[in-house]
Amino acid sequence: MRDRASSSPPISEQEIQLRQRAAAFVCIGMPALTYFGIVAALDHDWLLALLALLTATVIVICVLALWRYGQGYRAIRPAVVCYSALVLYLVAYSGPEHARGLWFLSLPLVSLKLLPPREGGIWVLGAIITATCLMMLAGNGPNSTAYSIEYIARYITTTVLITGVLLWSELILERYQQRIEGQNAALLAERDQLEREIVQRTGLEEELRYLATTDPLTGLLNRRAFMTTLADELTRNQRLHSRFTLLMLDIDHFKLVNDTYGHPVGDAVLVHLSGLLAKQLRSIDKLARIGGEEFAILLIDTSADAAATVIERLLATIRSNPASHPENGKPIAITASIGCTESKADDDEQSPFVRADRALYAAKQGGRDQHCWR
Ligand code: GH3
Ligand code: MG
Ligand code: MG
Repeated sequence: MRDRASSSPPISEQEIQLRQRAAAFVCIGMPALTYFGIVAALDHDWLLALLALLTATVIVICVLALWRYGQGYRAIRPAVVCYSALVLYLVAYSGPEHARGLWFLSLPLVSLKLLPPREGGIWVLGAIITATCLMMLAGNGPNSTAYSIEYIARYITTTVLITGVLLWSELILERYQQRIEGQNAALLAERDQLEREIVQRTGLEEELRYLATTDPLTGLLNRRAFMTTLADELTRNQRLHSRFTLLMLDIDHFKLVNDTYGHPVGDAVLVHLSGLLAKQLRSIDKLARIGGEEFAILLIDTSADAAATVIERLLATIRSNPASHPENGKPIAITASIGCTESKADDDEQSPFVRADRALYAAKQGGRDQHCWR
């Protein structure tokens, strides 16, 4: 049906989304980090230059690992940690007018887009607390500019607001995705169930078709299936101007077999005869059990002349191959009479049957164990 087993497991929607976000992080973050690295190197701020270089390297490795091996949030977490360390460094050493420290405002975006929403929220909260401590302590060391209380208050308010809005939207998105995934799983389960039902129904249909066209005792075609085959063959014959020979075969004095040995033994004789007949015919010929001890044979593309030898062979085979008693193995000799007819151009579905039936009657009247033509 589907080659689910042969293909690798499908990537979840969440993983696809994370990969896209990570790719955006690289595309936007790399130019910024390159800028930082260059400016820091020009300012001889070697620690910032090193931090920018390290962060850029870790981000690239994490994103490549995410795209190559999957593993979701686990792969991208080190990149967020490095980026957080960088922006916290920029808060601590924010330069004149605290311009560098403003980069901290990008941390809620990075954390909440690249980590699970709740983890990202907790991570940003921790970073805000750390940043607040760093701002309070700023101004004590070299290259460190003190923050005013008002600045710190505005800074924290802005960061908390950004974090809140982002966290809210991420939680809504997460709930929406979970609902969609639930619906997808339900749809897949329903599809699997439908596929199972189709397979089951196909099997049942095949079984029904078999039962409707097959004689349960001998496994040969039944009367209904034979009539359909005959009608198809008539149409084909009339189109191709070819001929068939129809034989109706009836076991002689079969009632005696039943009366002597019992009905189950009579059944075994019928099975034995159907096997004998099947062996004598070509695979294209059609053999059916059309009544109690009556068989019909359609010799495809066979004229009366060509059929004559087949008919004699059939009678001789039945005569010389007695059935054996299912319990004691004793032979049960049988003979049969055959009514034969060749198809005619103006035949309808019934006429070959009527002629073959009359021929069978004549064979019975003629003394049985013989064939007659009509
Ligand atoms: P004839 O040579 O004129 O054909 O004689 P016959 O005894 O074969 O013909 P008749 O029509 O009198 O009897 C047919 C017998 O076939 C009667 C019936 O009990 C038996 N028969 C019909 N169907 C089955 C079957 O499925 N199993 C068995 N064991 N016997 C069956
Ligand atoms: Mg009969
Ligand atoms: Mg009979």
